[in-house]
Amino acid sequence: MDFRFSPEEDAFRQQIRDWLKENLPENWETAAGFSRGRDDETASIYKDFAKKLSTRKWVAPHWPIAYGGLGLSVIEQLIYNEEMAYANAPIGYSSIGVGWAGPTIIVYGTEDQKQKHLSAITNAETMWCQGFSEPNAGSDLANLSTKAVRDGDDYIINGQKIWTSGAHYADWMILIARTDQDAPKHKGISYFLLDMKTPGISTRPLIDMMNNHGFNEVFFENVRVPRSSLLGEENRGWYMAATTLDFERSSIGGAVEAKKMIQELAEYARDTKRNGTRLIDEVPVRVRIAEAGIEAELGRLLSYRVATLQARGSVPHYEAAIAKLFNTDMKLRMARYGMEIMGLYGQLDHKSKWVQLKGRFKRQYMWQTGLAVGGGTTEIQKNIIAMRGLGLPRG
Ligand SMILES: Cc1cc2nc3c(=O)[nH]c(=O)nc-3n(C[C@H](O)[C@H](O)[C@H](O)COP(=O)(O)OP(=O)(O)OC[C@H]3O[C@@H](n4cnc5c(N)ncnc54)[C@H](O)[C@@H]3O)c2cc1C
Repeated sequence: MDFRFSPEEDAFRQQIRDWLKENLPENWETAAGFSRGRDDETASIYKDFAKKLSTRKWVAPHWPIAYGGLGLSVIEQLIYNEEMAYANAPIGYSSIGVGWAGPTIIVYGTEDQKQKHLSAITNAETMWCQGFSEPNAGSDLANLSTKAVRDGDDYIINGQKIWTSGAHYADWMILIARTDQDAPKHKGISYFLLDMKTPGISTRPLIDMMNNHGFNEVFFENVRVPRSSLLGEENRGWYMAATTLDFERSSIGGAVEAKKMIQELAEYARDTKRNGTRLIDEVPVRVRIAEAGIEAELGRLLSYRVATLQARGSVPHYEAAIAKLFNTDMKLRMARYGMEIMGLYGQLDHKSKWVQLKGRFKRQYMWQTGLAVGGGTTEIQKNIIAMRGLGLPRG
């Protein structure tokens, strides 16, 4: 593991910082809350920002140049992710396209599919969603029952997805559906690139505990799609979905958000008095902030370990699970510390005139609770660490 950055990498970091200073929408966070561009109030902020990034080829800078990226190294990608996370930049519009759909198309897509989809993602023309989970298929994803049945040159899709983030704005969906009812459950699944405007698709909102409309249920009723929307071979979709999930879990940079939160909390504790005493002068507050600072640094190093492995051409499995598990738990603890230090103010949301630090800690607390489930639950990460990392037998 190498902790140092090269002078070129430091210069790249500075370039991003300078650009962000010029281009971050003013006061966007106050307006946006934490809904990540998935409500009417914020969707345009996210889309406009993605458009600005596209002018620098910074929507997916780590993608090959031929597909609209800049061919950045894994470490440069880490720097990019860190700076975007540190600035809390509104990059959600392209996140599923760049992080999940695009890389899977790069690996398995035909030339036509690459031509059609990749530059549309890097030009911020299309937003993607992920139709994997179903009411009876989450951790045990291969249990899915949405069907795609061959009919001449088409497939006809029937079934339901759930927890589909952003489906109400998305132009395209990566969808997995059962194409062989009789095969063992992992072997009868296919992977589709689905145009969300196809007749027969309807979405119903699911409102989360932050009162945001981020998730949806998506229903498919006799949705007819051409054979060209199949990605890779029929019935090999499970293996492609595993690739998508590897990309999803190894996304890096999140721990840096925690570092920023700690800096803000320390500043708040220095500037705020309770009963005539500065919060920072209370020993339990100081200890908590120090502990949180150490944890944030540990989280960052775990993310660097994943990035270093990727830079050397290895595929991190249990290492990515450790980083995801630690960082999700750490950010949840950190958000809780923040709320406790603020006392009752910590529970207010950003619209209250009494809100402290824009209500970020409360929002982070609720958001991180969800992230302990999304992308593979805490228990599933522990299973991966136990089996692949420690070599323990399957429970
Ligand atoms: C913020 C967020 C965004 C999401 N976005 C999307 C999206 O865009 N598209 C999409 O397809 N899905 C999405 N999801 C769904 C997510 O992938 C699933 O919620 C997740 O895979 C868990 O599945 P489940 O909810 O069915 O829970 P279950 O799999 O039913 O799990 C229930 C509980 O049982 C535990 N459990 C299950 N199996 C095991 C096991 N083998 N060993 C130990 N414990 C186990 C789990 O850890 C959990 O505590 C999102 C979820 C969240 C929270």
